Amino acid sequence: MTPSLLQIGRLAPELEAELAATFPVHLLAKEADVPAFLERHGSTFNGAVTSARVGMDATLIDALPNLKVVSSFGVGYELLDVDALKRRGIVASNTPDVLNDCVADVAFGLVIDAARGMSAADRFVRRGDWLNGAFPLQTQVARKRLGILGLGRIGQAIARRSSGFEMDVRYHSRNPVQDVPWQHEPSLTALAEWCDFLVVAVAGGPSTRHLVSADVLAALGPKGFLINIARGTVVDEAALVTALTDKRLGGAGLDVFEFEPRVPQALMTLDNVVLLPHIASGTFETRKAMGDLVISNLKHYFADGQLQTPIA
Ligand code: NDP
Repeated sequence: MTPSLLQIGRLAPELEAELAATFPVHLLAKEADVPAFLERHGSTFNGAVTSARVGMDATLIDALPNLKVVSSFGVGYELLDVDALKRRGIVASNTPDVLNDCVADVAFGLVIDAARGMSAADRFVRRGDWLNGAFPLQTQVARKRLGILGLGRIGQAIARRSSGFEMDVRYHSRNPVQDVPWQHEPSLTALAEWCDFLVVAVAGGPSTRHLVSADVLAALGPKGFLINIARGTVVDEAALVTALTDKRLGGAGLDVFEFEPRVPQALMTLDNVVLLPHIASGTFETRKAMGDLVISNLKHYFADGQLQTPIA
């Protein structure tokens, strides 16, 4: 099969250049009238390239009657209508594993920053407040209790990092994971009650929406910290804002937000929350590896019909 690809949204310039050098590819995002373009040319594409942040809905999939394969940049695929793809026998890939280390590093960076107030301390120095007295005492990380929501590829990389901090680790997921040294906790609320830090590393999408509810935040309590590097939708953000504002939660470190890039205004002035602009996988090395995987999945598919990292 000769490849003919439709690129749905914009990707990094280096990846776009490599894609265009490897396959015939047309960029949908540059079309002024997308429905008219798809009506006229939709049947000419047998492959699509998208990303976790853009996805593909059923209307777009329907507009590509000869689509056979989708290669998506990123590991989350809640914006990709997998049911619509399956109905048509279209296969899809994502870019798992190559980003585990960088995402886990940011999770741990947020644990330390939220507990020790490093970002707040940096603002304290820049404001000149040090001249008037010392920064307030903060919370120790070493030998504390780490709860992980979702012990998948990234969750396990986070758990491994905790050993250097001599932390006690437990996790919650629907199914216990075999052959890991960490204890499974069947109740998320019980995990939140037990731990000092609750790190969210679960998949996004409807099945995990607002899993971290007001009740879970209450169980974490005024000495507990919530870290989210997964998806903003997993946390009831309104409840989180109220808990942080009222100091009913010790603190939070957030790389993702429910309505990103919009961040609740109420969080902007709070020193008990660290705010990051969804950067967890954002290193030269990891983004290159993710891009390479987008391309090698397509190369494999068009060579022998097999994807390297198919979405289950
Ligand atoms: P995996 O699929 O390996 O792990 C997902 C984990 O979530 C599994 O342990 C799964 O276990 C658990 N899970 C899924 N649904 C539920 C549920 N309803 N309740 C409890 N647990 C659940 O994914 P990865 O570790 O590779 O990635 C995790 C997520 O991290 C991605 O989906 C993505 O959204 C996010 N991410 C964020 C990045 C960022 O830049 N901030 C970068 C990369 C990823 P079980 O099925 O047994 O419940």
